[in-house]
Amino acid sequence: MTEHGSRISRVRDQMARQGVDTLLLSVGPDLPWLVGYEAMPLERLTMLVLPLDGDAHLIVPRLEAPRVDTSRGSFDLIAWDETDDPVELVARMLPDRGTIAIGDRTWARFVVDLQRARPVLSWCRGSEVVGPVRIVKDDDEVAALARAAAAVDEIATAMRDVRFSGRSERDVHRELAERISGAGHERLNFAIVAAGENAASPHHEPGDRKIGDGDLVLCDFGGTMNRYCSDITRMFSVGEPPAEIVDAYEVLQAAQAAGVQAATVGVACEVVDTAARSVIGAAGYGEYFVHRTGHGIGAEEHEDPYIVAGNPTALVPGHAFSIEPGIYVPGRFGMRLEDIVVATVEGPRRLNHAQRDIAIVA
Ligand code: ZN
Ligand code: ZN
Ligand code: ZN
Repeated sequence: MTEHGSRISRVRDQMARQGVDTLLLSVGPDLPWLVGYEAMPLERLTMLVLPLDGDAHLIVPRLEAPRVDTSRGSFDLIAWDETDDPVELVARMLPDRGTIAIGDRTWARFVVDLQRARPVLSWCRGSEVVGPVRIVKDDDEVAALARAAAAVDEIATAMRDVRFSGRSERDVHRELAERISGAGHERLNFAIVAAGENAASPHHEPGDRKIGDGDLVLCDFGGTMNRYCSDITRMFSVGEPPAEIVDAYEVLQAAQAAGVQAATVGVACEVVDTAARSVIGAAGYGEYFVHRTGHGIGAEEHEDPYIVAGNPTALVPGHAFSIEPGIYVPGRFGMRLEDIVVATVEGPRRLNHAQRDIAIVA
């Protein structure tokens, strides 16, 4: 069976289990994950209609049809013309009664119009049937995540020989963005460069601040490569960092290692969060670790499972997620250390291997 054929059959199993009769997918990551075609985020409707039994159909605007590769055979293509009503077309393909799961990212206008066209049907979120399948990565998906991780590892390593001093955050951001595209990512997702006190804001927008002597610089970057995401954070210091930074970073590294180590099969996500958080708390920095320990990663840069207090989901082989504790002292400095980890029967497997110390740069 092809990779998409196997995904479709696993999603159908999930539909059967949850009493869903038809799955509708439009823009967003579920559609390319399921059938290999990504809908343009247009005002014109693209929609996969996947019934529990019977053939799947992909409804696309006529002008998009040439982009669709039907050779995989997982669906039949229906192109609609400018004068057709695509909502009506989809509505006619739905069962008389039952439950329809519709992709979470579908434009509200289409959801509303479809519900109006077929008011007796029940509706639920597409993620309710696709999510439980997507959250467990198969071997090919783990391999794709590992390739994306290796690409940003190489960038993190190369950045150790780059000059930071005298440049603006934006300038270093531009360099990171170029390197991410150069390393074979089809998409840049983010490249945070935060110097000194700016790094105390975890999602700082790189700006004109000049990087100077003694600055600790946070670089958190990632992209999408062959449909799977990369995400890494490493720290750089212009010259030797002061004792306070060295001490805090030691705590951070220990916290990150504790989080990775705790991420074994059967352990709840919230327990992994606590493992990292308690190290930072014990060292007196607890109030400065202001976000969850990590997020799932796959076709999306942030997806289930979230490594956060209150998430009782137990890790299973194939769960892929970041372990990225941070310490953010307002007005002073911020630091984060992030690797992607996969839960396996042999224990947690890190996909990132770039050196984890603070890189001393010029
Ligand atoms: Zn983030
Ligand atoms: Zn990140
Ligand atoms: Zn992340």
